[in-house]
Amino acid sequence: MLDQASFSRWKEAILAEYPRLGLDDTFRFGCGPGVKCFNACCADVNVFLTPYDVLRIKRKLGLDSRTFLERHTRTITLDARGIPLVQIRMNEDDPKACPFVGPEGCTVYEDRPWSCRMYPIGSASPAAGADGPDAFYFVVERFPACAGFDDEREWTVRAWKADQGIDEYEIKGEAFKAICLHKFFRARSGLTPDKTRMMHLACYDLDTFRRFVFESSFLRRFDVEPQTLERFRADDEALLLFGFRWLRFTLFGEKTLVMTDDAVEEGVQKMGKMFTK
Ligand code: SF4
Ligand code: SF4
Repeated sequence: MLDQASFSRWKEAILAEYPRLGLDDTFRFGCGPGVKCFNACCADVNVFLTPYDVLRIKRKLGLDSRTFLERHTRTITLDARGIPLVQIRMNEDDPKACPFVGPEGCTVYEDRPWSCRMYPIGSASPAAGADGPDAFYFVVERFPACAGFDDEREWTVRAWKADQGIDEYEIKGEAFKAICLHKFFRARSGLTPDKTRMMHLACYDLDTFRRFVFESSFLRRFDVEPQTLERFRADDEALLLFGFRWLRFTLFGEKTLVMTDDAVEEGVQKMGKMFTK
């Protein structure tokens, strides 16, 4: 598994050494059930999951988010920003296979994560994240057993992304990316442990976040239109977008949610008590 030091070294090497590709640059690659190395890449590998990846896979498996996260993932915070990142937890025994690989290939193929779709292409930017003005694509380091690079088929990056259904994942990932690249992280050192947990809850543990919205004092503090609220009971994607709004309010102090009159009054009273002490 990747730790913070090796992640930083890996990123530095990409920025310094890897040839940079644009959307219309080409590379040669081919993969499919007929290749001799079929499934070899689905073991002992770092697969990070975006919030949308988690939503898709837990739904595919029919698991609630907490069970999925506990059973199949580990969470790390890789840098001083305190942003929680979720990885698939590979099986313990050799060859440390991905829990979702079977003899016929990926058992969650229609819902496989963004990074599995992208391989062998990666994306990076000299600024934090991968969508700054200098963002670029690159061909990742060849996995030793991977015969895909011996295939003569030629792709542009754009065609590869279309073939792998990546555009939908990128559109659904925009709001999460905007949080990770928020100017808050340039101005301050990062999230407190409590706020890291809040971010993990709203981004990845969606079913628990749903209970938090409906079963805690949340709705006494935030004014949410009843019709919108009803959608959150069954619509994971709507709830995820709402979670991002709550995070922007809670982490960055933006006016993305409206407080109820009761919550405002409570805040005024608390302030009053502070000043009369
Ligand atoms: S999620 Fe699927 S494609 Fe990705 S590593 Fe696991 S088995 Fe392979
Ligand atoms: S190792 Fe390479 S060619 Fe083989 S299955 Fe994985 S991605 Fe495809």
